[in-house]
Amino acid sequence: MNKVELQKSAVGYSVATVGNLASFEGKAFVKDVLGTTSIELSFGTLAPGTSVPFFHHHKQNEEVYVVLSGTGVFILDGEEVPVSSGSIVRIAPEVSRNTKCTGDKPLEYICIQGKANSLEQYTMTDGVVEE
Ligand code: ZN
Repeated sequence: MNKVELQKSAVGYSVATVGNLASFEGKAFVKDVLGTTSIELSFGTLAPGTSVPFFHHHKQNEEVYVVLSGTGVFILDGEEVPVSSGSIVRIAPEVSRNTKCTGDKPLEYICIQGKANSLEQYTMTDGVVEE
């Protein structure tokens, strides 16, 4: 079951929601609903004391995790890295990773994955200000 609900789809853009983040639980991926072509984005929550049920790495995508709330640790190639609200973690494809909620409230985060070394233009080198 995908928890992402498409609200509007038009040529050139799409809008979806996962509902109020305050009550969001579990994991939801947006690529298929929004039709993204260069990144995947997911919302994730981990209940206190729980971890992602597996370690994983990627073939070609790097990931950036943005911690929205809670506290936890990322286990990156065996090294524990503490995180909390506001933490931003970039992980190269080949790094083994897992995430654990260590606080007494859920760890809530966004994960963005994109093909490593594919970014050629960004911000003002890609953005075009219109008159
Ligand atoms: Zn991943």
